Amino acid sequence: MKGFQIFRRASTAIRNRATPSKLLIVLTFGAAGGAFLAISDDSPFRSLTAGESGNDGGKKKKLVVLGTGWGGTTFLKNLKTSAYDVHVVSPHNYFTFTPLLPSVTNGTVEARSIVEPIRNIVRNKPYNVEFKEAECYRIDPVNKKVYCRSIQNLGHGENEFALDYDVLVIAMGARVNTFNTPGVEEHAHFLKEVDDAQKLRRSIIDCYERASLPTISEEEKKRIMHFVVVGGGPTGVEYAAELHDFASQDLASLYPSLKDYLKITLLEAGNHILPMFHKKVTDFANEKFQKDQIDVKTGSMVVKVSDKDISTKNRATGQIEAIPYGVVLWSTGIATRPVIAEFMEKIGQAGRRVMAIDEWLKVQGCDDVYALGDCASIAQRKALEDAAAIMKTVDKNNAGAVDVGDFKEFVKDIYERYPQVRKYLEKNKLKNFEALLRNAQGDSQKKIDIEALKKALSEVDSQVSFLPPTAQVASQQGKYLAACFNKAGRCEKKPEGPFRFQENAGRYPFHPFSYKHSGQFAPLGGEQAAVQFPGDWVSIGHASQGLWYTVYASKLVTWRTKVLVVSDWFRRFTFGRDSSHL
Ligand SMILES: Cc1cc2nc3c(=O)[nH]c(=O)nc-3n(C[C@H](O)[C@H](O)[C@H](O)COP(=O)(O)OP(=O)(O)OC[C@H]3O[C@@H](n4cnc5c(N)ncnc54)[C@H](O)[C@@H]3O)c2cc1C
Repeated sequence: MKGFQIFRRASTAIRNRATPSKLLIVLTFGAAGGAFLAISDDSPFRSLTAGESGNDGGKKKKLVVLGTGWGGTTFLKNLKTSAYDVHVVSPHNYFTFTPLLPSVTNGTVEARSIVEPIRNIVRNKPYNVEFKEAECYRIDPVNKKVYCRSIQNLGHGENEFALDYDVLVIAMGARVNTFNTPGVEEHAHFLKEVDDAQKLRRSIIDCYERASLPTISEEEKKRIMHFVVVGGGPTGVEYAAELHDFASQDLASLYPSLKDYLKITLLEAGNHILPMFHKKVTDFANEKFQKDQIDVKTGSMVVKVSDKDISTKNRATGQIEAIPYGVVLWSTGIATRPVIAEFMEKIGQAGRRVMAIDEWLKVQGCDDVYALGDCASIAQRKALEDAAAIMKTVDKNNAGAVDVGDFKEFVKDIYERYPQVRKYLEKNKLKNFEALLRNAQGDSQKKIDIEALKKALSEVDSQVSFLPPTAQVASQQGKYLAACFNKAGRCEKKPEGPFRFQENAGRYPFHPFSYKHSGQFAPLGGEQAAVQFPGDWVSIGHASQGLWYTVYASKLVTWRTKVLVVSDWFRRFTFGRDSSHL
């Protein structure tokens, strides 16, 4: 009895105490302690202490957050002000650690280990928060309302509700892009949500069990045991590698008669797999897949998927081939959700591929609405568009031309407002902005006029680029936006952002969002991974896989998920993956 009470007290303490003390308690009670010590909590989801509080005396503003993925959850975790009543709407009442979804498809990690209930994440925050398990189906920016539909089946008229907002944060992510390929929605698997990963896991085991039945013909067995992955990006490649490991390390010994029937094919419409990685990584992945007998077909565009065949068109020859398959995973990138597309039409962004936000994450053409993550893209202001405004600011005497040195006072602001300038200088090994202007003028003695400035700025605009749709970007944006909300009052009085050249007066309240890329991984199976750090520094092999384990364990959102995932990894190393047909 006494032992049970001690256990109950410890359990309550673990659930209620702050993060570092949880670790201490876990270690004190000796539950596989040594292993967890190896993980450092450098995640953006660290518990925050209450910071500046808002004006609780007056009526609080209503802040509605749509989505509980990387962007929305990081925003909520980092929001420290009590100035808002927060309402969160999402069809999932949990956050999913998407980088480990491929590991869920084969049971390396269990589904529940990579999710954290959103109510757990936002409890003990300094703001009032309510969560609604529903999906938003319409945004009305004129009346400042979002229309939502519960995912519970409550019956006529009870499923739908509307929420007013003073400030709206859209973090709804994106949908899978099928490119309207016939049959994809009906027959292919996707890998965006936990449900998808679980379905995929069941389908693989389903194929093995079906192919083991005595009534199945040889030809049918070959078809059932053919697993096709469409899309040679990081997710498709990682899934193919994970599937190969599952099949060769676990299923081969459990289903020995099917070993020779297994076939994995990776179809990619472009010329290379992993096109965003260094050539060394692509070459290594190709070689590894060749050794593992994963058939990589580049230049192969899928044109149709039926229940048993996938039709591909060879981009070089135009030849169409029908490939029989057992399971197909569709992983070819993302597209805008219909609710966002409809909202974009309302705010004058029709025709754009992705919703445009400014450098402060505010939706362009709409007040009090911010967006982050995969559902939006920063439309970086072109420096050339502001050439005349910059000249007017620098040319205080209205002389029509200025000395290069006259820009000195504004160079820091130019660098911050137009980050493409710095990128251009680095790329072209130019020492500073003055060097760029001198190059454009062509005569180091002459003053700089508007034409020379335009010439210089038109060149730098070539360096404007879009951020990739990744968790890294979404979470940094969530953290940035929360920081802006937290310090809004202070920055209104004392703006910290760059000079407003267009208005020729004052400063922006905040620094614009600036993305810091910390590298990307490509797990390639067989306990090997590739990692590419900024500056194109590449490392491939077992050590990189070790780094992958460490980084992903440390990035998991809470200590609970860290512990679960690490113990799943130990379980897998010790007992192999579970092939039960649940
Ligand atoms: C399998 C896989 C592996 C990945 N691996 C990596 C990786 O290793 N590194 C990396 O940086 N990135 C990775 N990514 C990409 C990364 O997951 C996304 O870029 C990131 O999730 C984007 O964050 P987000 O907040 O914009 O959207 P999401 O994380 O997709 O969140 C969207 C949220 O909106 C909710 N929602 C959807 N519809 C509605 C609606 N109508 N109303 C309200 N809410 C709604 C969803 O339930 C969800 O909570 C991976 C993605 C996948 C699918």
